[in-house]
Amino acid sequence: MPELPEVETVRRGLEHHVTGRAIDTVRVLHPRAVRRHLAGGPDFEAALAGGTFGTVRRRGKYLWLSVGEDALLAHLGMSGQLLVGAPERPLDSHVRVWFTFKDAGPDLRFTDQRTFGHMCYVPDGAELPAPIAHIAPDPLEPAFDPAVLTRRLRQRRTGIKRALLDQSLISGVGNIYADEALWRAGLHWARPTETLNGTEVSRLLAAVTEVLTEALTAGGTSFDSLYVNVNGESGYFDRSLAVYGREGLPCPRCGTPVRRDPFMNRSAYTCPHCQPRPRRARW
Ligand SMILES: [Zn+2]
Repeated sequence: MPELPEVETVRRGLEHHVTGRAIDTVRVLHPRAVRRHLAGGPDFEAALAGGTFGTVRRRGKYLWLSVGEDALLAHLGMSGQLLVGAPERPLDSHVRVWFTFKDAGPDLRFTDQRTFGHMCYVPDGAELPAPIAHIAPDPLEPAFDPAVLTRRLRQRRTGIKRALLDQSLISGVGNIYADEALWRAGLHWARPTETLNGTEVSRLLAAVTEVLTEALTAGGTSFDSLYVNVNGESGYFDRSLAVYGREGLPCPRCGTPVRRDPFMNRSAYTCPHCQPRPRRARW
């Protein structure tokens, strides 16, 4: 599944390839791809045809492209890809939405094998589309304010990992990045948020930003100049993980075997030495 760093790579690719280009035709090839656009596929096509793509922004795993005052909002879901390429290449069966441009240059195809991804057209959404206004900024966004997050974390009274995964507090931090950031910050996932002091919160936020930035750099290397592509895999996953998915293997810092705990139907990985379990745990 594409995580924030992969989505940011796609955002940069789109900015490079489609910003400033006038849309010629829009074809919805599978209605499920525009299921959140309640007025339906033909309305979606008509709203976008003739418009010009402006800025490309991202919040968490959502992307939006401004079209005048409005926006094209997209989520890649589990397997979505946005591909830019020669318009004459064959149309494969997983293409869900197809955009061509008036300059007859490279086209844009939303391809999605599992169809969990979606697109919709949001009137007046250029600044911030209403359907995602409830999602908190992510740490790589200019709108992110560490002071606001620190205050809200302390008020939350929950476990720190649960808080990191809560999109209304901070977006874009998936299970993997949460575990890696907590390990770097030396914090156990079940630490009650109200017991974190200012230094610990700053250390954690620095670790989250660092992990996301490193993953972005790694993910960015697979980016080709012609294709805007995301497969949900990035080189980061193989190379740099300290604890995630490494049960029983030595902690890179102290050599203690990594521990796995069940957490929200998934797992939480920690080093029992670097991330001592709190006396009062919350999850
Ligand atoms: Zn350790």
